[in-house]
Amino acid sequence: MTKPQILMTAPMNPAVIDALDKAFALHRLWEQDDKPAFLAAVGPEIRGVATSTLFGRVDDTLFAQLPALEIVASFGVGYDNVDAAAAAARGVVVTNTPGVLDEEVADLTLGLLLATLRRIPQADRFVRDGRWAKGSFPLSPTLRGRRVGIVGLGNIGKAVARRLEGFGVAIAYHGRSRQADIGYDFHATPVALAEACDVLIVIVPGGAGTSHLIDADVLAALGPQGVLINVARGSVVDEAALVQALQAGTILAAGLDVFAHEPQVPDALIAMPNVVLLPHIGSASEHTRAAMGQLLVDNLAAWFADRRPLTAVPETRHLIGPA
Ligand code: NDP
Repeated sequence: MTKPQILMTAPMNPAVIDALDKAFALHRLWEQDDKPAFLAAVGPEIRGVATSTLFGRVDDTLFAQLPALEIVASFGVGYDNVDAAAAAARGVVVTNTPGVLDEEVADLTLGLLLATLRRIPQADRFVRDGRWAKGSFPLSPTLRGRRVGIVGLGNIGKAVARRLEGFGVAIAYHGRSRQADIGYDFHATPVALAEACDVLIVIVPGGAGTSHLIDADVLAALGPQGVLINVARGSVVDEAALVQALQAGTILAAGLDVFAHEPQVPDALIAMPNVVLLPHIGSASEHTRAAMGQLLVDNLAAWFADRRPLTAVPETRHLIGPA
């Protein structure tokens, strides 16, 4: 039997490439000098796409060139780079890699929160620069006594909350609706949550529904002792409003793993001493990236075995038949 043809849009870890190479006829789009000519030649035979946020948008422009496409397997839980509605309209299933990264991203979130409050990167630079011999490092803000608001109490948000319970701080949340069986205070808007808290941790999906959910009003409500931690997507925070709020002292500090135009980071943020900046590494450990890669491979294998991928995104679940 001929192997299904798969288009990989951007490089992934070698174990994923090896596994897909064995099971499928794998085409590496990023290695092609003339991508339009390559797509015109192989596009009609492609039945699956393996993609990641590194590639940029996977939408109707690409789908139109792949008339035999059945499945898009995306690396990562966030799939705002894939137009899942357009895929659904063409009968194409989209999968992501939820669950296997929750604990890793939550660990990183707590690390970023503590680094931002206790100024850990700044203290490291203080030692390396030889400044310790000339005087003590300035006293930092604290997590003690803070009220932490989680914007997006989903799989990762709950893993963050579990950790925060161990830190003995008050926890509240915002989502589009109140969740049954959750004891934390619910706030119907991000502004109301920010008013009730002095730390906001943002961990919602990206895309049109959450664009600039955290705007100047939310930052003003967070207040002058407020700390913003964004591990969601750069699009969720109005970056210009954030820069202004940090410069004006509207909020105290920010810890950011994601940015509006990655890998570009505004010079204004780089210049600020009260901001901790990370290069989008929420899930980026060897262990967890391997688990995400395996789930992507398993989704493609399951689709071509019995059309029942493990983790189809909600927009395309109706395309999967009953068990
Ligand atoms: P889930 O789908 O489990 O949770 C998402 C949560 O966001 C839900 O609680 C949902 O609640 C809430 N939500 C969705 N839309 C809105 C909205 N418009 N307004 C308010 N709340 C909303 O996702 P995960 O926890 O698995 O992942 C969340 C996101 O984290 C990913 O989509 C990705 O963008 C980001 N991420 C970032 C990483 C990094 O490296 N920094 C790594 C992994 C993920 P409700 O439905 O009640 O509104």
